[in-house]
Amino acid sequence: MTSRCRGCGLPKPIGKKLIWTSRGEVYPRHPGGERLLFLDASWARALAQHLKKANAEDLLQRLRGLRREHTKRKAKESIGRWAGFLLRRRVTGGHILQEILNELTFYGYGKLKIKEFKPRKLFRVKAIHAYDDFFLPSDLWGLWEGTQNVTSTMLLEKEEEGSYVLVLRTKEKVGEIHEALRKQNKRRELPPPVKEDEVISLCPKCHRPIYPGRMSWVKDKGILVDESTGRRFIVTPVASWALVFSTLKEEGPQILDSFKEELANSNRSHAGPGLGKDIKAFYRDYFLSLPFLGWGKPVRVARKPFVVEAELLGTPFPEILAADMRGRFGALEREDWTVEVKTAKDGRQRFLMGPSWDGPWTSLGAANIPPSHPGILLP
Ligand SMILES: [Zn+2]
Repeated sequence: MTSRCRGCGLPKPIGKKLIWTSRGEVYPRHPGGERLLFLDASWARALAQHLKKANAEDLLQRLRGLRREHTKRKAKESIGRWAGFLLRRRVTGGHILQEILNELTFYGYGKLKIKEFKPRKLFRVKAIHAYDDFFLPSDLWGLWEGTQNVTSTMLLEKEEEGSYVLVLRTKEKVGEIHEALRKQNKRRELPPPVKEDEVISLCPKCHRPIYPGRMSWVKDKGILVDESTGRRFIVTPVASWALVFSTLKEEGPQILDSFKEELANSNRSHAGPGLGKDIKAFYRDYFLSLPFLGWGKPVRVARKPFVVEAELLGTPFPEILAADMRGRFGALEREDWTVEVKTAKDGRQRFLMGPSWDGPWTSLGAANIPPSHPGILLP
């Protein structure tokens, strides 16, 4: 059993690893770490399935390549000269890589165990309870190539659902590891931690944003799950998903649209557990969970006749979040819903939601509703 904070119930290891900021962002607690977010693992799987179904083989390969390159670069940047030296030794290298995989287990990626490691030659990893079999293998591929400074081939041997062995064999050694490390990353500062304000309420004991559900970390399986809804999460770099979504927007917009459609529909049909609550609590919990999950900060939320209006700050993928809202709130209000997103000049994103109508929202006068004072206001 993982111990939990006695104030808010958050598993203590999660609280210790991560830092939350007042802008609704999440970072790892080491200097220079990339921005992270809690991503619903089923979304990653659904996205990969849509790509496979669309027979978009080129796009699949391109996305895999992008993720691989991104992780490779990040891995090169983050290992120090000394670690680079140790990584070439069979025993220490295996230990360091297993430690990195344990970190991924912590972030909900599944259980990852090294089966074979020959420095700069061969890497065999077994994944159990893996969150997916497309993005995770691409990232592990990049991790291996980045830490060993090699180019490899990748083979995935499927065993059963969520379980596979990944085999990475070196085709070419790119150079000595330390050559790649000349550009050491400077020690950047940690972001300022979260402060209590009119939107974000903090746990009085651990001073972290309160998550309205019950987050659990199943350590031996590498699973992060909200027990109250059954949603499985991974904690994952925003930048690596930004690559995926921006590439899809340009090169496979219809795949992205069908993914968003499925997301909304599956939310509609799985919204059941939350619907026992009253509507006001449902909206409040939804928006208050965003800063914890790293999906930005709600500045203002108002539910008015025909429209729910939300202003968020710093949401990484507003269109994906809009699809999520469309399904959830549509099920809650028992209506077919539409959600429109607009990004203002100051970077705030404005979500306008309501029952489907013909014509734009502005024709309902929604855009002319005067802003009320800040805070989460629900009638
Ligand atoms: Zn707490």
